[in-house]
Amino acid sequence: FDALRATDPEIAGIVVDELDRLRGGLQLIASENLTSPAVLAALGSTLTNKYAEGYPGRRYYGGCADVDRAEQLAIERAKELFGAAHANLQPHSGAGANLAAYAALLMPGDTVLAMELPHGGHLTHGSKVNFSGKWFNTVGYPVSQDDELIDYDQVRDLARTHRPKMIICGATAYPRLIDFARFRAIADEVGAYLMVDAAHFIGLVAGGAIPSPVPHADVVCFTTHKVLRGPRGGMILCTSELAARIDKAVFPFTQGGPLMHVIAAKAVALKEAMQPAFGTYAKQVIANAKALAAGLKGEHMRPVSGGTDTHLALIDLRDVGVTGREAEERCDLARITLNKNAIPYDPQKPMIASGIRVGTPSVTTQGMKEPQMREIAALIARAVRADPSTGPGRAALGEVAEQVGALVEKFPAYPVTAVPA
Ligand code: PLP
Repeated sequence: FDALRATDPEIAGIVVDELDRLRGGLQLIASENLTSPAVLAALGSTLTNKYAEGYPGRRYYGGCADVDRAEQLAIERAKELFGAAHANLQPHSGAGANLAAYAALLMPGDTVLAMELPHGGHLTHGSKVNFSGKWFNTVGYPVSQDDELIDYDQVRDLARTHRPKMIICGATAYPRLIDFARFRAIADEVGAYLMVDAAHFIGLVAGGAIPSPVPHADVVCFTTHKVLRGPRGGMILCTSELAARIDKAVFPFTQGGPLMHVIAAKAVALKEAMQPAFGTYAKQVIANAKALAAGLKGEHMRPVSGGTDTHLALIDLRDVGVTGREAEERCDLARITLNKNAIPYDPQKPMIASGIRVGTPSVTTQGMKEPQMREIAALIARAVRADPSTGPGRAALGEVAEQVGALVEKFPAYPVTAVPA
């Protein structure tokens, strides 16, 4: 870090400011986490210098013996941790992993059945502004208006009507468990591939806290940086029959050289996830999300679907009379970072939204438990109701920010010795 400070004090200053932001506030973005110093060390290593197009033992460049060992270790750990026949750790991101899965299994124009974006699906599941919606014929399944859960009978009806070549399950804002066996049965009935986008919850699977999609899916794609707590990046698991197609779809079809420092950091994160402590962590992430959702419910902020089984809760703010955008801005002023989110059948536009999404991966990494979740729910409730255009509102937000500061001091993100400042 001294070298960075000497060469580029502006960027060094930004890194320190961001570290201060992480340490000084509550991070409740459901798709974020706080990687370990070991993961950061691998990311900041000289492995970034190496070109290694191809796969271990089959590279287009010389000098790959060391990075081959890193990638092979990462592959072996992923296969062992998830019980998968094949693992590809090269995707640069979750979206890139999904692109490779489409490329491996489909041709442009093929039909895909996936969860609708406003109901929790991801951009890569058929949005018109994304390759998936532009190049493929995507059909969306909603959640039920009654209980805000996936209606498996409706998914089956849609599959029988549209005969998709691939069905996707997995979402960005669905708080409940997904019945992978039901999806497998539907896919089998119509002869479709089943792709599980496990980006959000794969860390819970790694920790044994929720059921695994691996035995049911043809392909499982995910990000490595959410509950799993690795570096930013993607990963694909698949059956041995699809292994060669997936590998070719990642390189050379959708990517060039792999990011070897990131792959090494993924290996480190996988090793961490294989320790018993990670199982304890994953279970606490869920216990915390349940406590946070219950706390918010007690503050008249309704959890969509009534609660959560995972690391996140989606909160309907209509009873409070505050939009998701207003809530996000107000919480930001109180040093609580969360995001506005559309709720199912949302009457608001996506940039305004009627809800917020809160997640517990980061605060659980900091060591917080249920009592802190109840405290956080009360802090959110106060911040959301405080209108910053009024004096009393500004005063309330200032007080909440101080309480947030006092709370995070007891559970520091990156204890001072871990990351140079
Ligand atoms: N799939 C799902 C379900 C996601 O939630 C996300 C990101 O949040 C992605 C894919 C894309 O991941 P990335 O941002 O790494 O491209």
